[in-house]
Amino acid sequence: MSLAQGRHYLAIPGPSVVPDRVLNAMHRPAPNIYTGGLHALTHSLFPDLCRLAGTSHTAVIYIANGHGAWEAALSNTLCRGDRVLVLSTGRFANGWGLIAQGMGIEVQTLDFGLRAAADPAKLAQALAEDPDHAIKAVLVVQVDTASGVRNDIRALRTALDETGHPALLMVDCIASMGVERFEMDAWGVDVAVTGSQKGLMLPPGLGFVFYNDRADRARDRADCVTAYWDWRSRTNPEIYYQYFCGTPPTHHLFGLRESLDMIAEEGLEHVWTRHQILAHAVWEACEAWGAEGPLEMNIADRARRSHAVTSLRLSAPHGTELREWLTENAGVTLGIGIGMVAPEDPDWHRFFRIGHMGHVNAHMVLGTLASIDAGLKALSLPHGSGALEAASRVVAQV
Ligand SMILES: *Cc1c(COP(=O)(O)O)cnc(C)c1O
Repeated sequence: MSLAQGRHYLAIPGPSVVPDRVLNAMHRPAPNIYTGGLHALTHSLFPDLCRLAGTSHTAVIYIANGHGAWEAALSNTLCRGDRVLVLSTGRFANGWGLIAQGMGIEVQTLDFGLRAAADPAKLAQALAEDPDHAIKAVLVVQVDTASGVRNDIRALRTALDETGHPALLMVDCIASMGVERFEMDAWGVDVAVTGSQKGLMLPPGLGFVFYNDRADRARDRADCVTAYWDWRSRTNPEIYYQYFCGTPPTHHLFGLRESLDMIAEEGLEHVWTRHQILAHAVWEACEAWGAEGPLEMNIADRARRSHAVTSLRLSAPHGTELREWLTENAGVTLGIGIGMVAPEDPDWHRFFRIGHMGHVNAHMVLGTLASIDAGLKALSLPHGSGALEAASRVVAQV
């Protein structure tokens, strides 16, 4: 019998849950875009965005999803024919590389597979093999939302520094900003990108790019840049119109003001720690289930697992069956697996993901885990015991 009535929980790794406070902030008539409160509100966003990214440099907002932010970062820094080095750790760094390719940028890929983080030693080696500095930028995701891996950005920066290679370090924080610790300036990141629909708890529609002075110097020679993506006209514009190169994303801006306030009220350190503890609860449960039967975490190394999303492997077709069981019977929807095998491969149905980013708390995560536990039992899928006990101990912090 279905027990899915009540508030449905979309536990996919983006778009994430939009808090009622954000929804309410957006629920208003269209504001005047030419003068008044919207302008002051817009000005107030940039310092808070910079704080979120750990930078004293520059933030720009685009009306775009993450793919748009990818393109913005590339177009302001590169020329047609330039080479970028993509550190592939799943679907998403590759996706950034494909956007680059489409812009006429040459893409070199270091492939670390679907179950491991980027290895700084291999990056150092690839840079050492580029004495003429043909590589203009290194593209990497902090969290790959497909594989669930978290790359060590600071260690990758060290590899760049130790080889003395001048390539820009560009980091996709779309799944991780406002979820995982990220310190753009302290870690030596030149360009960071994120989107509105994950850690920032908004609907999709805003893309954010953060850039430092080195990246802005690259803008001097970048011939990929076009009027819409140009970050210069959007930075300290003379007229409000230039912030968004057209009509501002009015309601998203009210929502963003609210979500940034929520993060500030909780405290960014607390936000990061909350995600870390909730992720540990998920891992404890998954490891207990996996002690018997086919369930397996995609990333074995705890130190390299994301706090935003957990990527899991089951037997086919049971990953899909479990997801469907949870939606129909428990009122919680898990994420599909992506980028692991081709969608027409029967093994596609092995994979699923649990999103735990943004507006999530202990009962949402524990409820999701208990629902998975029930689903494994209802579908008679073999699994180890003690998962919920283990997760609840993490939440109890004992
Ligand atoms: C979600 C996501 C993207 C893509 O964002 P869109 O808004 O779908 O374009 C890119 N990179 C990472 C790491 C993501 O999690």
